[in-house]
Amino acid sequence: MQHKGSCHCGAVTFEFEGPEITAGLKCNCSICRRKGATMTEYVISQNDLTITAIAGALSTYEFGSCVAKHHFCNRCGIYPFHQTLRKPGDYRVNIGCLEGIDSTTLPYQVFDGASL
Ligand SMILES: [Zn+2]
Repeated sequence: MQHKGSCHCGAVTFEFEGPEITAGLKCNCSICRRKGATMTEYVISQNDLTITAIAGALSTYEFGSCVAKHHFCNRCGIYPFHQTLRKPGDYRVNIGCLEGIDSTTLPYQVFDGASL
């Protein structure tokens, strides 16, 4: 199915085709713990995620090995997606940014990113 999402202010929007989202993933690494977002369980190929951003709105935070790319809207501060450490270039999306899904009602697994 087609999924559409955005940051809070709407400067960053995105869409992708993927399975229905019935569960999420939280990660216990140092940055995910601070963000607290529930992410997609599945990874979205960089070819399959269409991102539209107002010029200059999308910023990227990196740390450690700088393989993972933590993208955020520098207007509203929301973090709509990141590019993963384990599949560099591919994305997980913040379920809380998706239309028509209440991320707070979904069951989720915890990924042990702190051990990577
Ligand atoms: Zn925004």
